[in-house]
Amino acid sequence: MSNTDSPNEISYSDLTEMSVGRLSGVGPARQSALASLGIENLLDLLTHFPRRYIDRSSPRRIRDLKEGESSLVLATLRCVETRRTRSRRVMVNATFADGSGTIRCSFFNQPWRQRQLEAVEGVEVALYGKVERFNGRAQMTNPLVDMIGDQTGRIVPIYPMSEKVRLTSGDVAALVSQTLRRCRQRGICDPVPDSILKAHDLVPREDALNSIHFPETMAQMVIARRRLVFDELLRIQVSLVGRKRQIEREQMGFRHLPNGEGARPEDLLGEFYRSLPYELTGAQRRAIAEIAADMTSPVPMHRLLQGDVGAGKTLVALVALLTAVKAGHQGAFMAPTEVLAEQHTESLRALVGHLRVGEAGSLLGDRPVTVGLLSGRVRVAERRRILEELDAGRMDILVGTHALLEESVRFRSLGLVVIDEQHRFGVEQRDSLRAGERHPDVLVMTATPIPRTAAMTVYGDLDMTILDELPPGRTPVETIWASSISDQDDTWSLVREQVSIGRQTYVVCPLVEGSEKIQAASAEQTRASLAEGELSGLAVGLLHGRMSSDDKDEVMGAFRERRLDVLVATTVIEVGVDVPNATVMVILDADRFGLAQLHQLRGRVGRGSDRSYCVLVSGEAVSEEGSERLGAMVATTDGFKLAEVDLELRGEGTIMGQRQKGRSDLRLASLSRDGEWIEKARASAFDLIDSPEHAPALLALTEETSVFIAEEEAEFLEKN
Ligand code: ADP
Ligand code: MG
Repeated sequence: MSNTDSPNEISYSDLTEMSVGRLSGVGPARQSALASLGIENLLDLLTHFPRRYIDRSSPRRIRDLKEGESSLVLATLRCVETRRTRSRRVMVNATFADGSGTIRCSFFNQPWRQRQLEAVEGVEVALYGKVERFNGRAQMTNPLVDMIGDQTGRIVPIYPMSEKVRLTSGDVAALVSQTLRRCRQRGICDPVPDSILKAHDLVPREDALNSIHFPETMAQMVIARRRLVFDELLRIQVSLVGRKRQIEREQMGFRHLPNGEGARPEDLLGEFYRSLPYELTGAQRRAIAEIAADMTSPVPMHRLLQGDVGAGKTLVALVALLTAVKAGHQGAFMAPTEVLAEQHTESLRALVGHLRVGEAGSLLGDRPVTVGLLSGRVRVAERRRILEELDAGRMDILVGTHALLEESVRFRSLGLVVIDEQHRFGVEQRDSLRAGERHPDVLVMTATPIPRTAAMTVYGDLDMTILDELPPGRTPVETIWASSISDQDDTWSLVREQVSIGRQTYVVCPLVEGSEKIQAASAEQTRASLAEGELSGLAVGLLHGRMSSDDKDEVMGAFRERRLDVLVATTVIEVGVDVPNATVMVILDADRFGLAQLHQLRGRVGRGSDRSYCVLVSGEAVSEEGSERLGAMVATTDGFKLAEVDLELRGEGTIMGQRQKGRSDLRLASLSRDGEWIEKARASAFDLIDSPEHAPALLALTEETSVFIAEEEAEFLEKN
């Protein structure tokens, strides 16, 4: 059954028009119970996927339970009572029976259990937990409880549930089953063309929906899941690739030709390369070639440049900026913070200071390539001068923060925008940078590596270049995890030893969630106690976000000029601070930091050729996830590998969160586990969008995508 054959088939958007209230057995009370699970229409119901399955052929009889084993038991409630323990904790005790015997379950701190269990008295319940024996009787403490309800079949779906809702998993199953039965007559429309399904060995959608809810075997469930995962990913890719193709079709860009009309005669790039004290890395060469190809084409560039800290992105961006200037245009460089904007300005000026271009209007005169800075700190008169120069075309490259987006900032001819993103600029802001008829090329840089397949989802509307090679001569930072007191003593000895040979150290203080104030206080305390204790005699400075800009500048200046040996800081130093003489990074309470942040912090050392160290200090008791993070930091310095670990540990929410609000309907798909399917979905999206014969399918899928996005957006608006 394909989308073109039977117009009568039920589509996902048809299903959203049908309220669950129309199902038999759903009165107002049940309807509101379903609504509190987010289920209002039949599409919600069919995409309320089981969170796990219970194989009924494998439970144990209560009589046969073995002490110490984790087991599954199917039983019904006999009685339940609530007590308070001597330590005033709530304890709910329940007895269940299965015909072979009884088992007692104790639930601590779950006061709602009593009512929940009473409500399902007589209903079959699945208990999963570790078996204990007490006076010869089987017992479990805080087992997992799933209300199976009245269900048949060997494999039983267990639906996501909330304890406040008076529904069993069996109730939901019955409604899903009723819905699927009603759909059977007309059939559920499958918008994905047969050729694509065949290419990826995928089952029809209706079969997949039937088997994900009511599989006969677990193998069948896996096949069903694969199809539905593909659908989720395909919808995302269709919208991203669609957006990309639309821009390519509709927007007129600049052809940055070295010898085109209005181009400057000077060999800017040649001179620039000749003045570089080092060779480009292979990755930089590749990146530059890809960007140059984009920039000479009339289609506006939208490219993401991903590279680890220190991979040399600035240089690549600068070559792109010079390409625009050479072609007779201007470039903008947008940074996420003022400090970074200032640093970028300095490093760009250092690199282009010696390059000169002819001065328009004067026959023989020339002037240096100009790099201006527009930030909140720039005074009014200076700002006015910058804007004039910009409008006159005498300012070639302008660096700044969001300030660049203001309406008063008018370029004579803005050919390229570089955005140093750090996840802080959204698609909309990228759009607002376009003025006039022609759209500037856009290069987005990010130093937070994302695994390649995940990036296809998050940045799927951009082309991608990865700088996967560090410039030669870097010694990898030696990373040490210090968890015992004696390790910590060794840490301070290491700091003293490095200071004695003229090197410097950062000490980063614990992350206090949401409170810069407490963080600042803790940095202050740490500084005081180190200066008087472990590091007495050394010059120890302090830097945190609550200091004034002038004070911060003063402290950073002192550290840069080596008037300070040690800088105790909060995470303000995470981005951008660049002092090559610093060789030790000590991170206190390191287990509380996220992997991306730890990696960024470690990137602050190892910038010179000296041996450098990163010491991760933690207590002895670290959470399991915390120790996985610290273990990963010790095991590798590769930002992309760490990003994979991070994705596995934290799931997609963190990556998707900020950038993708309202753009994803990932329920089954996982960016870490389904990478292969992301690639297949992306290839299929290109196929669908680029082949005219797929136009009807594309239309159906686009409609379907808007159904899900509308839903997500509504949810998002509700929550915010
Ligand atoms: P990123 O922006 O990717 O973190 P940067 O552009 O700041 O990295 O480069 C880090 C350092 O490496 C800078 O000091 C830069 O001068 C230097 N660098 C860049 N490219 C090369 C290269 N090909 N060979 C040697 N050093 C390089
Ligand atoms: Mg940099």
